[in-house]
Amino acid sequence: RKSSPAQTEFYQAAEEVLECLRPLFERSPHYLDHNIIERIVEPERQIMFRICWTDDAGKVRVNKGYRVQFNSALGPYKGGLRFHPSVTSGTIKFLGFEQIFKNALTGLPIGGGKGGSDFDPKGRSDGEIMRFCQAFMSELYRHIGPTTDVPAGDIGVGAREIGFLYGQYKRLTGRYEGVLTGKSLNWGGSIGRKEATGYGAVYFAENMLEARGETLAGKTCLVSGAGNVAIYTIEKLHELGAIPVSCSDSRGTLHDPNGIDLALLCELKEVQRTTLEAYLAQHPEARYIPAGDYPADGHAVWRLQGDVAFPCATQNELTEADAETLLGNGVTCISEGANMPSTAAAVDRFLAAKIAYGPGKAANAGGVATSQLEMAQNSSMEQWPLEKVDAKLKAIMANIHQQCAETAAEFDDPTNLVLGANIAGFRKVADAMIEQGVC
Ligand code: NDP
Repeated sequence: RKSSPAQTEFYQAAEEVLECLRPLFERSPHYLDHNIIERIVEPERQIMFRICWTDDAGKVRVNKGYRVQFNSALGPYKGGLRFHPSVTSGTIKFLGFEQIFKNALTGLPIGGGKGGSDFDPKGRSDGEIMRFCQAFMSELYRHIGPTTDVPAGDIGVGAREIGFLYGQYKRLTGRYEGVLTGKSLNWGGSIGRKEATGYGAVYFAENMLEARGETLAGKTCLVSGAGNVAIYTIEKLHELGAIPVSCSDSRGTLHDPNGIDLALLCELKEVQRTTLEAYLAQHPEARYIPAGDYPADGHAVWRLQGDVAFPCATQNELTEADAETLLGNGVTCISEGANMPSTAAAVDRFLAAKIAYGPGKAANAGGVATSQLEMAQNSSMEQWPLEKVDAKLKAIMANIHQQCAETAAEFDDPTNLVLGANIAGFRKVADAMIEQGVC
């Protein structure tokens, strides 16, 4: 039942999951008897609130805030906060829905949730960001807690924002506890958390390639985005001997055939927070394609030559025409660092071509998995070394790949990791819901 035109992304995500579940329901009709479909597409709770804050000129500004507590069958709600002007209740609902299955695939005790605001952090001073975060937390704090709902970062919410949000939570509650993840290392964060989503997406690509007798070493890789996920995808690709040749932001795409200069990229995006075009001053051999010059039916980054692609920016950034070009150029592996970056038609193309395609809910689960490791460290008052966190991340990603591949094979479609991810994730959540009764 589609009742709201404002929820197109949520319907896209839900349709994909429900289509994949058809063969499961044929074999296991008891899920229908328990009416799990209607129960799982409805969030347990949705909170919408007003955020009033003051800009540097003294003007009062108003934004919308959201937290969707979607499903708690497997544990406390867990999922990031997104600050971006495109955010609507439908965006947060789609992200929360995806999060249920992703979190289930990690094998860790975490339920699904997501939140955010239509606040645009771009061009705002640190003082404005702080006042906005404080105003946001002044409402959110009453709905979250270390055993109920533990938000993290997402687009527009990095270490700086998590710091301001945490400070306000502490001021309002008087409690120093693991209520947010993605915290700084010297006050409760986990080593390896900021790298985890990008590293995890690369480990997932390696798992997919290994299953086909290949490896990432020497492969040319296309990466979109230039934020947290893209940067650490690029870092791990360099480490493994692959050649990441691109990145992008909302203003344009950068192509450096010699491999992206990671130190410079970090300086431009994490310190100066400026445009990718500034990269050319030090690397005149690179090329910058402004967003105005993109093809009408897609994105310039997917028109570049490469072997493996890592969409790491945002939803629906890879169209059917982009998918056709990638396949035509011989791409054999796609690992999604972003959430739902490929349109439904693009996914169909990848599946029909039977290339190694890792959907976001499986390939980018390393971030939330490491967030759960941060929760475990907070509750035991420990801090684990990088080797331990990274070994766990690698094992979790390998396990997710194995679950997806085995489930796909069980349902007679062995290369279809979308089917595998959706059925494997759904079964865990649905079984828990049935065991916990109607609640
Ligand atoms: P960041 O804010 O750090 O970076 C986002 C990047 O994508 C920026 O380069 C941004 O460019 C670009 N971008 C964002 N929106 C758009 C848009 N509408 N059009 C073009 N470019 C855009 O976010 P993250 O790296 O954390 O998140 C990226 C993706 O990964 C998202 O889909 C997120 O949900 C997903 N993800 C993130 C996890 C994490 O741990 N951070 C975990 C799992 C998934 P600009 O700065 O110019 O806007």
